[in-house]
Amino acid sequence: MTDRMKAPSTFLVDVAWLRQRLGEPGLRVVDVRPALEQFQSGYPWAHIPGAVYLNMQQLFTVVNGIPGKLTPQATGEALLGRLGLSQDDHVVVYDDSGGSLAALLAWLLDYWGQAQVSFLDGGWQAWQEEGETITAEEPVVRPATYRARPEEGKLATAEWIAAHLGHPTVALVDTRTPQEFQRGHLPGALNVPWEENVNPGLAQRYRSGTTLHRQFAEVGITPDKEVVVYCETGARSAHTYWALRLAGYPHVRNYEGSWAEWTRRAGEKPASAVSTGQAAVGPCGLPVASPAPVTAVEWAVAPVGRATRDQILAQARARVPEIDAYEVKERLDAREKLTVVDIRERDEWVQGHLPGAHFVPRGFLELRIEEIQPQRDVPIIVYCAGGVRSLLGARDLQAMGYSNVFSMAGGFSQWKNAGLPFIVPAVLNEERRTRYSRHLLIPEVGEAGQLALLGAKALLIGAGGLGSPAALYLAAAGVGAIGIVDFDAVDLSNLQRQILHGQSDIGRHKVESAADRLREINPDVKVIPHRVLLDSSNALDIIGQYDIVLNGSDNFPTRYLVNDACVLLGKPLVDASIFIFEGQVTVYDPAHGGPCYRCLYPDPPPPGEVPSCAEAGVLGVLPGIVGSLQAMEAIKFILRIGEPLVGRLLMFDGLEMTFRTLKARRAAACPVCGDQPTVTELIDYDQFCGLPSRHAIVEGNGHGINALAR
Ligand SMILES: [Zn+2]
Repeated sequence: MTDRMKAPSTFLVDVAWLRQRLGEPGLRVVDVRPALEQFQSGYPWAHIPGAVYLNMQQLFTVVNGIPGKLTPQATGEALLGRLGLSQDDHVVVYDDSGGSLAALLAWLLDYWGQAQVSFLDGGWQAWQEEGETITAEEPVVRPATYRARPEEGKLATAEWIAAHLGHPTVALVDTRTPQEFQRGHLPGALNVPWEENVNPGLAQRYRSGTTLHRQFAEVGITPDKEVVVYCETGARSAHTYWALRLAGYPHVRNYEGSWAEWTRRAGEKPASAVSTGQAAVGPCGLPVASPAPVTAVEWAVAPVGRATRDQILAQARARVPEIDAYEVKERLDAREKLTVVDIRERDEWVQGHLPGAHFVPRGFLELRIEEIQPQRDVPIIVYCAGGVRSLLGARDLQAMGYSNVFSMAGGFSQWKNAGLPFIVPAVLNEERRTRYSRHLLIPEVGEAGQLALLGAKALLIGAGGLGSPAALYLAAAGVGAIGIVDFDAVDLSNLQRQILHGQSDIGRHKVESAADRLREINPDVKVIPHRVLLDSSNALDIIGQYDIVLNGSDNFPTRYLVNDACVLLGKPLVDASIFIFEGQVTVYDPAHGGPCYRCLYPDPPPPGEVPSCAEAGVLGVLPGIVGSLQAMEAIKFILRIGEPLVGRLLMFDGLEMTFRTLKARRAAACPVCGDQPTVTELIDYDQFCGLPSRHAIVEGNGHGINALAR
């Protein structure tokens, strides 16, 4: 008998076994991880070296979202041939976590007379966990001819089952969840959920052959029987097929059409079979059994202190309704009001979760559930990796009065192995969690806020007095990309206030000196130097690359240019200026209401009206304060927290040590953001230098004073 000739140890292989044999002639590795987007665009995607990728949806028709019934044999042969497989190969199959997809292919190859088939226990996750080599190189495939030699004893058809119903030597095993089983099953079937064949966890590992044997024998499935396994579509049952083979059962058949086909042919929906409470006979004469009424196990059957693990689980299972992945998907697709809670640990969550799920590790479930869903009657679906922890979690939510709690059977493993969509969250690695730990402690920032900062792009106009503190704090805060526009070189007279630069930087370009300093503060930050004179030819290109602009320029032409460019591009601008002991800060964001610079100062003043740069001194610490305020506004804007300085001018007087706020309104007649703008492209004003006098800003000199209101 073929079975006896195969070394039983190779039904199931572990990572070490595969590592030692990779590359041996005749050993072929097939990757059947769910057809995620990544595989639709082909390699390069990481896989076990030499593995070929098989899209299971081409080999099986898809039933309820998962591959189920076989495509015609010729189609399957052609597909396997294109992958270069032949019947003499020893094929090792793996999927993401050792789930039923791999089992399904392994069963098929076994049925089709493959010389040797092995199932990689724990799948890709086990391979990665053990730190094995991976590659993104596409393997060389030489197409071959594949001819299946079906061994009929490994397949069950509806006809075969119908002819053997009630036969004493045939055991029918339904491997679906108890909930699915209760809705309807084949007459005389025993329910052994496939999850019971594996140890729960992220990477599913089969239990030992001895444990499996005991588990099957306990429910009356003995090796002398012809065992027929089925589930909804034939995938989960393939998992149990393999479990039975491991447990030493010589005669196992997988009903690949499974319940989906049986009920279709019986002309009977499972739901109605349950509701009638009677066996139904369809056009093809295939009966459908509805189960005996389920006797609910009372909650306090065993004193808690004495209950074994299995008793606790049995109690939870009797009390908590289970729902399978496909049904969850359907209900989410129907936009039902559902709260989905993932109670796994962080390291599991980060590898992928259901779309829209809330992450609450089991240990925090009771403490945080009310923040997530205060209403006790809204349906809550709890899931974990394999459907065990979620039973217990759901049970505890029931104890809190949640009346509509479900546990997702099979957990995330089943969801993922069924090829249903999931989200791999962006998360902070350990180093970043440490670097930004003071941010993470702030509820308004947290991990999501920190990720927003890391994803943000800020542009500093000028790496001088204002740009220095702003850049240092933005970099330290982890703003992911910081652009700096500056054409100047570091001069000795800069060092009195421009703290980005040091003695050894004198003569270097400021953008280079700044980039070195910022990278030293935080290597997470990408510093983008723009060593140009900003003018009408380049301002839109440069500013257009960023989310927010901080203006630290010290001259009017640049101030008008940056303002106009930001208005035209709809970018928020954190503007500031300083003068001896005084400074002002505001945020111009006309795209979201509020004025722009020209609402206050429609046109540049004539050059003679302002002091020159050389004449105007500045106390060195002043830009430190004002530039830091700019950084604060930029960070608030990125985090979407607090009240931005939009429509408000913050005036700082360092001698009096006062802050005052003036309101500033958008001007309908503004030449750039007004109702009928006259400035529709960038204008280069002649270079001149300086700031409006203090009187011009604080008291007004005719430039836009009408827009200011105390
Ligand atoms: Zn305006």
